[in-house]
Amino acid sequence: MITLFRVYQSVNSARSQDAPGPEKSMSSVIDAFENARFTYEQHMQTCRQCHADAAPCAVAKHLLRIYNLARRDRMRATGANAPTA
Ligand SMILES: [Zn+2]
Repeated sequence: MITLFRVYQSVNSARSQDAPGPEKSMSSVIDAFENARFTYEQHMQTCRQCHADAAPCAVAKHLLRIYNLARRDRMRATGANAPTA
């Protein structure tokens, strides 16, 4: 996980410059969401069990739940349903 997180950090920092990002006060929520999504996607790409069974393993389900929670938090924080820009 530590290695994956470092990869995430480099990817995220490279991307953050041209990303049409929201205010910095939301960055922790955004970071949590991006991290959860990255971790989940990395798992789905690398997990042998998920590929072998063609179905999410227990870890995948756990990561997906975190991902969904983080996404909900992000939408709440950014007001995705109420665009003010
Ligand atoms: Zn898996």
